[in-house]
Amino acid sequence: MTESFFVLGDQLSTEVAPWATLSTSTVIVMIESDVLLTAPRHRTRTALYLAAMRAFAEDVRSLGFEVDYRMARNFTEGLAVHRAAHAPSVIRMNHPRGRRATALFQRLNVEMLDDPFYLTSIEEFRRMVSGPRVPTMEKFYRNQRQRLDVLMVDGEPVGDRWNYDEENRLPLPKNGGEWPTPWSRPLNPAEEEIVLQLGETHPGGDALEFWPRTRSDALDQLADAMTRIIPHFGPYEDAASGENWHLAHTRLSVALNLGLLHPREVLAAAITAFQNGLAPLASVEGFVRQIIGWREWVWGWHQLRTDEYRSLNSLGATNPLPLTWRSFGAHEMSCMNHTLGHLRDYGWTHHIERLMVLANAATLAGIEPLALNDWMAENFVDGAEWVMEANVLGMGTFADGGLTSTKPYVAGGNYIKKMTNFCRDCEFLPNERIGPRACPLTNAYWNFFLDGKEAIATNHRLAPQRRAAEQRPDRVEIQLGATRSRRIIAGDGDVPVS
Ligand code: SF4
Repeated sequence: MTESFFVLGDQLSTEVAPWATLSTSTVIVMIESDVLLTAPRHRTRTALYLAAMRAFAEDVRSLGFEVDYRMARNFTEGLAVHRAAHAPSVIRMNHPRGRRATALFQRLNVEMLDDPFYLTSIEEFRRMVSGPRVPTMEKFYRNQRQRLDVLMVDGEPVGDRWNYDEENRLPLPKNGGEWPTPWSRPLNPAEEEIVLQLGETHPGGDALEFWPRTRSDALDQLADAMTRIIPHFGPYEDAASGENWHLAHTRLSVALNLGLLHPREVLAAAITAFQNGLAPLASVEGFVRQIIGWREWVWGWHQLRTDEYRSLNSLGATNPLPLTWRSFGAHEMSCMNHTLGHLRDYGWTHHIERLMVLANAATLAGIEPLALNDWMAENFVDGAEWVMEANVLGMGTFADGGLTSTKPYVAGGNYIKKMTNFCRDCEFLPNERIGPRACPLTNAYWNFFLDGKEAIATNHRLAPQRRAAEQRPDRVEIQLGATRSRRIIAGDGDVPVS
């Protein structure tokens, strides 16, 4: 009797379990749901999923498998039609990463195997974060270094230090810096057809060429990242530029999140680059921290939590996600304009633009965290339900009230001025708290500590900022300017020309 193996669009690898043991009599099922085509998500993200899934189906056919590649209204319909056509005795799949997908496929009676796309099993993760005190991400990361024996010598970290934050927090060079060109591959006719098919229905630019669509692309991008990009990654990982969207970020998150690369091989490549003297320890450590620390942490917590986590809103932020943001619109704040522009053009911004600009601005303007979370999950090329949750509801907006970080990540214009060149062409002044040219982020930052929200008033780590704000002679004017700042951060709703 036929058995079927169902593959989701973020599980695009035949080099993980159970592929080596699958008989070619197994029918491989893939479903292109209408939601993928019709939801108003970023054009490049949509094109990427379609191109990568269709290319993967061809790769699997070339291995001798029958692939039942279906267009359907949704997964429920697609699997029902597959069952009617093939009458499989069982449909199996690797465990989905999103909770909502997991619940759906459980209901649809699909048998789930352990997720093979991570370095930590869910049992291991549960064990590592259990106990009387939940470990911090830093502690988890150090445990991962020891457990996986990564950059360790005789039980101690290589270089005698666990992190190189000091070296890795350089501001953008005064002249803007010189950055390696980003990896890209021209579209083939099938991919051009997809981009054409999407037409004008999806917002955002066409930047498919910059993202890997096949396993061979992903391996090519990985090799390129390890020779040309990662040597420059560390020092400027927290900087940002209005003129350059990628700086020295490897941008491997897309290949990892689609399943085209496994974190094990990415890790091995980075360690080899270090051992061969191609990349300095500070850069490699910063990169390894993301792969075995933060990425596994975010995934693990998504699995252990329930959807109740999505309803957390510790700061009571209820302003809607602005139209200007949703439409990647022109913005009068230079930092927002550049960040939304990068997102519009490439479907991606690096983590500092996500955290220091978008999430920071949302927190300071009281924008609803879940709306920000879902928008980012659906519009970034590496976005997904499991990725954004701890990043946005935890780290970015403090909606979870401290389950991810001990205090809200908020910053005023001076920090943005220090780390980026955004303020250079801005009509606002980063060091002005009040007045017609006051930076909206600077004003909103100080107001954040004055407006009496309980989660802020009772957080002992924020005591110095609270005291400083309360002692400011211009505190009343700061509070009076807060509505203006929120309005400016939201933008005026103009739809951009993309
Ligand atoms: S001055 Fe303020 S609004 Fe303008 S770019 Fe700098 S931080 Fe952003």
